[in-house]
Amino acid sequence: MPVVKRTSNNVLLDIALKNFYAAAEEMGLEDDLIEILSHSDRKLAVSIPVVMDDGTTKVFNGYRVQHNSALGPNKGGLRFHPEVCMDECEALAMLMTWKCSLAGIPYGGGKGGVECNPLELSKGEKERITRGLAARIEPIVGAWTDVPAPDVNTGGQEMIWLMDTISKMRGNMEPAIFTGKPISLWGSKGRTQATGVGVATCAMELLKVVGKDVKGATVAVQGFGNVGTFTALTLHEHGAKVVAISDITGAYYAPEGLDIPAAIAFANAHPKKLLEGFTQPGVKKLDGEELLFLPVDVLCPCALEGAVNAKNAEKVQAKFIVEGANGPVTPEADEVLAKKNVIIVPDFLANSGGVIGSYFEWCQDLAGFFWTEEEYLKRLNQIMTENFKRVWDYAKEKNVKMRRAAFMVAIQRVADAVRMRGTFL
Ligand code: NAD
Repeated sequence: MPVVKRTSNNVLLDIALKNFYAAAEEMGLEDDLIEILSHSDRKLAVSIPVVMDDGTTKVFNGYRVQHNSALGPNKGGLRFHPEVCMDECEALAMLMTWKCSLAGIPYGGGKGGVECNPLELSKGEKERITRGLAARIEPIVGAWTDVPAPDVNTGGQEMIWLMDTISKMRGNMEPAIFTGKPISLWGSKGRTQATGVGVATCAMELLKVVGKDVKGATVAVQGFGNVGTFTALTLHEHGAKVVAISDITGAYYAPEGLDIPAAIAFANAHPKKLLEGFTQPGVKKLDGEELLFLPVDVLCPCALEGAVNAKNAEKVQAKFIVEGANGPVTPEADEVLAKKNVIIVPDFLANSGGVIGSYFEWCQDLAGFFWTEEEYLKRLNQIMTENFKRVWDYAKEKNVKMRRAAFMVAIQRVADAVRMRGTFL
């Protein structure tokens, strides 16, 4: 009997399943493995009653999905957002399985969150929701079972509330259950830069394999937040000419190259950390979207999903795109760009520095011994370089695009682990 393919009304889950089935077919993956990997190991839904500041009680929906744990404990964020639902968590958990596998770290994929609007919550309400979630997911999380992390609208403070709640419930300090903690409380030096440094490493490795010197290579970086600033800074430090940067206030373009440390200092001094009013000799202000169409060697979209899409892909002039954000190039744009021979380093390879950094934090917490920033960044560079090369070589060998190659490499590693471990439980 042929495999009955799952579909979903949830767009994210439907895309995740379609990508999986397409890669599985191309790899010739066996039917039993397709069945197993297209389903999640465990899906937990919880109700969290919370006494609000006005004395009323509201019940919030919380979720945790563990997609597959053949390679190790599940890893993935917990997000607070009005649109969080089980299907979205399942899609994102599946993507985390492939991302961790591709990154070569010993984790499966997980994702969860609470359906809520953080903009309408006080700090006290947020704390009660977070601790309520911790108490309800406690039976299924642990340093060797499931290790959540920050995601949309959650950060270091939420991770500490989660860790504190579970540590107190167990009567045992449990720092390694959650990553993304502040450095002062079992977090890790180097994590802040990790994702951007990883994106820049991929860009530099790509330039190397196509025989182009990073020194003088022109770069445009969309988004000047956590990922964008460290992508731009790292490339600038290695001699690339970062000619354009942007944020929600627009794009800033200087064909002779920007002084990136000065731009970062400017944004840091702005009350909302924006580039609004930024200028340097030779800088022209452009509409934000125009950055995507500049004649550069490398374009790094590090802001939001769907930035390069069916409507604007034709205008892209960059030879290479390194996806810092999640899903910045839509599948329709992918096809347009393939015809223009643009090489794309896919998001779950390019921005995996974040999850690799989480793995480093977990290693340090388990050992109770902390690394220097130099040690952290040296190891990150080594792993990102190896991972880039693995996908590049596989894409050449199979004559497929890097995105498809990355899926195939990632799925194969999980499939091999499932096959070896078997399906006893
Ligand atoms: P951030 O909030 O720190 O920064 C986002 C930046 O994008 C801001 O500078 C914002 O002004 C800018 N921006 C928003 N809309 C824009 C637009 N239309 N044009 C130009 N700039 C725009 O977020 P971040 O942590 O840097 O994350 C960026 C992306 O990377 C997201 O897709 C996120 O999911 C992904 N990502 C982040 C990490 C991480 O470790 N931070 C890891 C993996 C993936």
